Amino acid sequence: MLLWLRNDLRTHDNPALHYFLSRNSLNQHDSEVPFKAIFFVCEKQWQQHDWSPIKIDFIMRHAHDLVKELALLNIELELIELDNFTQQKTYLNSYCQQHNITEVVANSEVEFNEQQRDKALTLELKASGIPLTLFEADVIVPKGKVLNQSGIMYKVFTPFKRAWLTYVQQGGFEYLGKVSNKSLAVNKTDVQEEEQNNISSTWPLASVFEQQILPTFYQKKISTYKLNRDIPSIKGTSGISPYLAAGVISPRYVLRLLLNKYPDLLVASDSEEFSWLNEIIWREFYRHLIFHEQRLCKHQCYKENYQDIEWHNDATLFEAWCQGRTGYPLVDAAMRQLNQTGWMHNRLRMVVASFLTKHLLIDWRLGEKYFMQHLIDGDLASNNGGWQWAASTGCDAQPYFRIFNPIRQSERFDPKGLFIRKYIPELANVSDKAIHFPHQFIEDNELNIYWPAIVEHKEARLKALAFYKI
Ligand code: FAD
Repeated sequence: MLLWLRNDLRTHDNPALHYFLSRNSLNQHDSEVPFKAIFFVCEKQWQQHDWSPIKIDFIMRHAHDLVKELALLNIELELIELDNFTQQKTYLNSYCQQHNITEVVANSEVEFNEQQRDKALTLELKASGIPLTLFEADVIVPKGKVLNQSGIMYKVFTPFKRAWLTYVQQGGFEYLGKVSNKSLAVNKTDVQEEEQNNISSTWPLASVFEQQILPTFYQKKISTYKLNRDIPSIKGTSGISPYLAAGVISPRYVLRLLLNKYPDLLVASDSEEFSWLNEIIWREFYRHLIFHEQRLCKHQCYKENYQDIEWHNDATLFEAWCQGRTGYPLVDAAMRQLNQTGWMHNRLRMVVASFLTKHLLIDWRLGEKYFMQHLIDGDLASNNGGWQWAASTGCDAQPYFRIFNPIRQSERFDPKGLFIRKYIPELANVSDKAIHFPHQFIEDNELNIYWPAIVEHKEARLKALAFYKI
């Protein structure tokens, strides 16, 4: 049997690995020969899918770590460099023949190209009598299990959430636990090595996140999540998104641990803790959505009437947005956070996405791509969901006439300009009152420290209302 690791580089709550180990221990209990596992390092394919360098680095760090961890379980994980999915299929076919593999086991991937690859490979391997057995490791509630009364995917989040909660309450989620305590022990040397590298210490390995950061978040920060989650100058959110996006932490473990600490959480919808769970359910919503609506993986608007809308796509304005030179400090600071760190706060993702689509009338797909190319947590389902929400083209999206005022957003969520000043130090000496739109202040003080605004808010708003009204 061959274990094929993909977006699931973890030993903890990994259904394919659990199955693999249970079958192998039945069949080859005393074997000295290591069991075989593979992971394809497919940089060209990843680049085609717009994976950012920081995400690739994050995944490779976990791949190398898993080689060591699986060795403790007598599994030899080979990292094989290939260009694309076609080569993966060819490689697997011949690998199975050469090594007399009788079954390939993996966890499914929800995206369209991955699904197509697996369908084709299933047929090819079947012709040689080798089953490709797939499990599901990326969601808490299995996709296809939360449906409305007509048996189809919900079109609105709130009833989806209710049905999702009912499913979980009725015992509908499985958590397989850790395969081996020994393998999960954090190696101190690795952690020290990690800390020498700045990016790595910001985003340590999943084992460190699970043992140190997640419990601290549950212990100390989750109770103020609702209060702090929208303030970008505060580290008030969990920072778990890169781990969930890369599949190196199981969402089912996240819920298991949460319910161990807050056993009544599923019915405590007014609590601070529930507001965090609510976000986890949004993640589930978008993954279930692309499972049912594969067209979303092909750059299509969920709302079909917006599919052929003629975006203005001004290249100069787009470049100003990408580089954080719009003249709106909160937008610019947010884009600089993305460009400098590979991550952006959720409130700011909403603000910059709204600004690109509604103030600049630039296609959400360009913003979606730019985000994927720069985010450490780039994830097709959540990114597409977030962009289509902000652009009002998506499922249960923001109504088109709700247009964030970037100055008002700045006043509300960064009142003293702490976040702005961190990423735009040129504005350090601008007063708190003026920081949200400092152009008059700059003129009055005869300074030359910041870009002029590329659009005027009120005018842009009126243009957007006319543009969207189709
Ligand atoms: P927390 O606030 O601690 O939330 C916990 C987890 O819940 C997150 O890690 C994430 O898995 C999930 N979650 C939170 N908010 C959302 C949401 N709005 N939609 C779906 N899941 C959510 N998230 C990604 O993981 N990858 C993306 O590529 C991505 N792109 C986005 C693009 C736009 C335009 C928008 C508006 C949102 C996007 N999000 C994306 C969702 C959200 O911004 C991030 O998940 C969140 O900022 C990650 O920080 P955190 O882990 O500290 O979140």
